Amino acid sequence: MILFRLCVAALLASTLTSTTVSREVAMTIDDLPTISVLGNDLEAAQQTTTALLAALARNQVPAIGFVNEGKLRTDGQVDPRRVALLRQWLDSGFELGNHTFSHADFHSTPLDTYERQVLDGEKVTSHLLRERGKRIRYFRHPFLHTGRSAPERRRFETFLTEHHYTIAPITIDNYDYVFAAAYDRAGARDDPKAQENIADAYISYMEAVTAYYEQQSVAIVGREVRQTLLIHASALNAATLDRLASMFRARGYRFVSLDRALEDPAYRHRDEYYGPAGITWLHRWAMTDGKRGTIFAGEPPVPEWIEQASR
Ligand SMILES: [Zn+2]
Repeated sequence: MILFRLCVAALLASTLTSTTVSREVAMTIDDLPTISVLGNDLEAAQQTTTALLAALARNQVPAIGFVNEGKLRTDGQVDPRRVALLRQWLDSGFELGNHTFSHADFHSTPLDTYERQVLDGEKVTSHLLRERGKRIRYFRHPFLHTGRSAPERRRFETFLTEHHYTIAPITIDNYDYVFAAAYDRAGARDDPKAQENIADAYISYMEAVTAYYEQQSVAIVGREVRQTLLIHASALNAATLDRLASMFRARGYRFVSLDRALEDPAYRHRDEYYGPAGITWLHRWAMTDGKRGTIFAGEPPVPEWIEQASR
């Protein structure tokens, strides 16, 4: 009997372990080369890029970065020093995708203009990829705004298909940019102690957010999907990526490419959400299935002091 109990315990333990270690997440990083409330300072962009890429490499995260090529310009001209930031991404073995030329909003931009934003937003990146025998493959909607009607979305998705793009969805949505703004402002007034506190709060918040979307995935899909995380190319993420990666590893995650994450059949779920908000694909699927109300409850809030410090 004791032996039987031991076996059951061992079996349970091994099941638990295998459940925990089988989590997967793809890290997608938006608003490249970098994003800061303080502006587009070249030296800051170089520091953020170098630190971010070093941390991604250290943690063996096969990340993809989504570019706004409008930010490669200085006085209207493509600036080779800013293009060099994208070269750093590719030389470090990471993939780049298109995030429109100037972070255009699908919901307030005529479709023709929006499509022009995609084409203008791929010129430099495509060139850099061609030099390496590769091509641009993924598109990420700014603000996660994916269209207010079925015909509009269909027309744009046909355009994307014609230009060989795959849409990059996300499941783990969050407000990292609010923390990043607070972090940048603390840096601007040379307050490293405040930056440390913001970084601590950020990691706690991201762990709570991750736990929330694990639970949401089970509630909506019936299991934990291969998650897709969205964060931004900020000084905050450059400074905290080691800790962020450790947090995910401690929860049993391994980092996978976006290709691998999207092989999860969950991503083939219909999306008939045409609301105004840029929301996680988990909630799009749930709303498409007619789920409403309390199923969405419990998203961890951004602390009020972070909101204040971000302004
Ligand atoms: Zn963006």
